[in-house]
Amino acid sequence: MITRFAPSPTGPLHLGHAYSALLAHDRARAVGGRFLLRIDDLDQSRARVAWEEQIYDDLSWLGITWDGPVRRQSEHFADYAAALDGLTARGLTFSCRCSRRDIETAASAPQEGVPAFGPDGRIYPGTCRDLALPDTEATSTRLDMARACAAGLPAQFTETGPAHAGLHNLTAEDLTTTVGDVVLSRRQMAGSYHLSVVLDDAATGVTHVVRGEDLFEATRIHVLLQSLLDLPTPEYHHHRLIRDEAGKRLAKRDDARAIATYRADGASPADIRAMVGL
Ligand code: GLU
Repeated sequence: MITRFAPSPTGPLHLGHAYSALLAHDRARAVGGRFLLRIDDLDQSRARVAWEEQIYDDLSWLGITWDGPVRRQSEHFADYAAALDGLTARGLTFSCRCSRRDIETAASAPQEGVPAFGPDGRIYPGTCRDLALPDTEATSTRLDMARACAAGLPAQFTETGPAHAGLHNLTAEDLTTTVGDVVLSRRQMAGSYHLSVVLDDAATGVTHVVRGEDLFEATRIHVLLQSLLDLPTPEYHHHRLIRDEAGKRLAKRDDARAIATYRADGASPADIRAMVGL
């Protein structure tokens, strides 16, 4: 078993991160497997070395040890670009110049029975799909979901988390209507979250992905990409989210629940484990 924890160094680790990291770590250690640490610093406009150092410090304090060197996404931009070029050469992507506002405007006429939002927010209305825009006009590259499904299905994945345990089959109808043409890269970013996590998990031999329930819907995109790129599909475990007293999920800005704050207040690693129900 190879698991991993993959935080973005864009803020302090909070209780939700601690839960995710401890769960993945404990699972691997329990069976003599490997636990990897990856720094998801894809978004260089938001990633900070100081947050990365705080991550190492908080994890070590929690008693978490990781195997092998830390993998940083910023050192693998060329790999993401190469994979994207491959998909483009197969006619599975298109160039897009839509701004967020363009997408809102084009999508604003609601159609009955068609979901408006997918795992990446507003489902792309298809504006640029058949325009064959030159690269110079594009601000992003999107996956042509219908073509991708034709090339990449059938595909399926096993989920072991509490909310969706079972075998999930992907269908073209579901992916085109509830996910749509997701972004695979932006002009200022080498790859998207989806493309990079799929490539990184495969490159590091991850067999079990343990992460928050909020990413369950995005898993269909990842499994489709694995199929298209001929990569193995790990087993997935999407765990419950740690919420505050009001039932709201914790976000990066909830500094009050940052591990560093608890540490400064004198909490022990055992206290943190107890707080997240481990
Ligand atoms: N870097 C992602 C995050 O912080 C996690 C990636 C993943 O688990 O797939 O949400």
